[in-house]
Amino acid sequence: MTDDLVRGFEDFAHYQYENGTALMPKLVEDGQAPKYFIISCIDSRANPGTIFRARPGTFFAHKAMGALVRPYKQGTALAASLQFALTYNNVPNIIVLGHTQCGAIEALSKNLEDEEITSFISMAKASLKKAQACCSDHDEILAMTEKETILQSAENLKTYPSVQRALAENRLNIKAWLFDMKEGQLLEYNIQNKDFRIISASHKTEGSRKEESHG
Ligand SMILES: [Zn+2]
Repeated sequence: MTDDLVRGFEDFAHYQYENGTALMPKLVEDGQAPKYFIISCIDSRANPGTIFRARPGTFFAHKAMGALVRPYKQGTALAASLQFALTYNNVPNIIVLGHTQCGAIEALSKNLEDEEITSFISMAKASLKKAQACCSDHDEILAMTEKETILQSAENLKTYPSVQRALAENRLNIKAWLFDMKEGQLLEYNIQNKDFRIISASHKTEGSRKEESHG
């Protein structure tokens, strides 16, 4: 039943414990010093560990439906995690990683009747309203809501005391990223252009330039 996970672990253990370049023994010995804190959706297709093919020790991971960051409240999973990452591990980058075709945004747009879910995702309502005010096409509304929600989450991060301290001390960058699952593209919010710009794309969408080897 869980064979696929166990096989995956065997592969991981082989490369990260037994190989000459294995990282895990060193990370266990020396401790971790990740450069990133990534806030992503729970969606199984948008897992940062998978899409960034990250080596162990690369980033702290926080997952929430829709990659949503609600305004600060003491005692939440995110507040404690940020405190740990920023105050005790000096992580210099937070990335809010939203994605297209997000079930949380879809649920919001369809007024899903499930209080357990809607009480969490209601934070994105303002983004949906903004999108509905300027677009009429359903897909366009969803796409704009996804982007606006990522920006709102990035903004809400600034209500967390650990984030405020790190920003005041000039030791933190906050980035807003969007993973376009359909096109295989990674986009970043560009403050000058006030829009999300592609920073990396699959060769499929770039018109298959050259072969790239990922080892
Ligand atoms: Zn999602």
